[in-house]
Amino acid sequence: MYHSIAEMPRGTVMRSLHVPPKRFAWQMRLLSWMGYRGLGMSALHPYLSGEKQGKVVGITFDDGYRNNLTHALPVLNRWGFSATCYLISQQLGGVNHWDLDKGIPENPLMSEEEVRVWINGGMEIGSHTRNHLRLTSCSHAQSNEEISLSRPDLEQQFDTAVDHFCYPWGEHNETIQSQVESAGYLTATTTRRGRATPLDHPLLLPRIPITHHTLPHLFVMKILSQYEDNHG
Ligand SMILES: [Zn+2]
Repeated sequence: MYHSIAEMPRGTVMRSLHVPPKRFAWQMRLLSWMGYRGLGMSALHPYLSGEKQGKVVGITFDDGYRNNLTHALPVLNRWGFSATCYLISQQLGGVNHWDLDKGIPENPLMSEEEVRVWINGGMEIGSHTRNHLRLTSCSHAQSNEEISLSRPDLEQQFDTAVDHFCYPWGEHNETIQSQVESAGYLTATTTRRGRATPLDHPLLLPRIPITHHTLPHLFVMKILSQYEDNHG
C-alpha cells in the first residue's frame, strides 16, 4: 500500500505518507532481484483466489497522486511490473481536499489526461469512490452512490474495466461491504495490516503499509516474514 511517491521536507505533516522516489525505486529493484513480480489487482486476483501460485506482490497506490505517474510508472515499467492506482472518480485533476484540515499539504491528483498515460503505460485503475468521503458516516444512499457510481464513472471515461475497490481510510462495515459486493467489485482492499492469502475474504483484503519510515531492512521483513501478519 503506497500513497504518494515524493521527497517531502522535514516537518511536513504526515510525511510518512510520502515514500521518496529513490527509496521506491530501490524497493522495486529489490523485489525483482528476489524473484518477485509486482502485479496490479487484476493480475493478482488468481493468486488471491488460490488458482495460481507464485512469487508475486500486489502493488497499490491510493488516491491517484500525479507523482505516481512521474515517479512510480517509469520504475514499474523498468521491472515489467504492473500496479493498481485507486482513483476518486469525481476528483480527477483536483487535490487531496480530505486531508487539508489536518494540515497535510496539497498534493495534486492525476488529471483525466494523466490517467490515460498511466493506463497506456500498462497500469491499472481501481475505484476509491467518487469523493473520498467517510463512508461509514454517510447515509445509505450516499455511500451506495459513492461506491457503485464511481465504477461506471471510470469505466466510461477510460474505456477500461474497473473491478477493484479500495475503502477510503480503510473504513468499512457490513453495509458498506455489501454495497461493494452489489456493485460487482471482485476485490476490495482495507488498511488492516498483513499479507493477503487465499483465506482472506476478497472484499476485506489486508495490505502492508509502505511509508517514509519503511527503511530497507523493514521492507524486506514486511515482505518475507510474518512481521506484518502479527499486527493483525
Ligand atoms: Zn484515500
